[in-house]
Amino acid sequence: MSEETGKIGEITEPHHHEEEEENPYPTGLKNTEEIIEFNGQKVNTAIFTQGFVAGCDMKICFGECCKSGVYMDKNFPEVILAHKDMIKGVMSADQIKDESQWFDDEVVEDEDFPSGYAAGSNVYTDSKGVEKCVFNDENQYCSLQVAAVANGMHKWAIKPTYCIMYPVAVVNHILTYDDEHSQDLAYCGIDKEHNFTQTTFDGTREEIKYVLGEELYNSLDEHYKQNYSAKFTIKLPETK
Ligand code: SF4
Repeated sequence: MSEETGKIGEITEPHHHEEEEENPYPTGLKNTEEIIEFNGQKVNTAIFTQGFVAGCDMKICFGECCKSGVYMDKNFPEVILAHKDMIKGVMSADQIKDESQWFDDEVVEDEDFPSGYAAGSNVYTDSKGVEKCVFNDENQYCSLQVAAVANGMHKWAIKPTYCIMYPVAVVNHILTYDDEHSQDLAYCGIDKEHNFTQTTFDGTREEIKYVLGEELYNSLDEHYKQNYSAKFTIKLPETK
């Protein structure tokens, strides 16, 4: 279990009030609904009901989900470092080009990552005084994604899984809506209902399919269609 650092992707303890019953599903979610297993993957059905914005829009949110850096599998920095020159090639002037400063020195135990350990990206302070992930550029874009696209790779080929999937995440082995991190976000956060246009599942279909595979995605989609998506469309008479 990692210490609380504010870095996204870390596992935190569930929030309980003392008088509340113990949550049998240790996801940390406040909006826990039901845990269902699909193809061996436990899924919190909150992903089907929690609202989300139309999409990430840096002009509105200024990449606020990237402020504290991110945890990734302890072996993933090697993947990033293998592409260091092309990443440096797209970084803005303020970003740190010395790759020895891109990651925390220490890894932390975290069983939701394949190796059982997580490495964190470092943060830096830009010339406007904003602290953010070392890979977040002056336009609030992720240099890992910008570099991949600029070099003909898949847009997520060298991006940490947590960053691809947010606002869904695997926490304590359960695919779930990440209510922990989203509480801090002023645009797409858990209680920003006035900004929501779709469910979290609809907003993360491509991401879930890419990270967890087509078979699991298809099972989730079937369950969603049967239980959550609109069954009827009311057609209003045409006005003359
Ligand atoms: S790696 Fe990229 S997407 Fe992830 S927190 Fe850093 S800048 Fe944001």
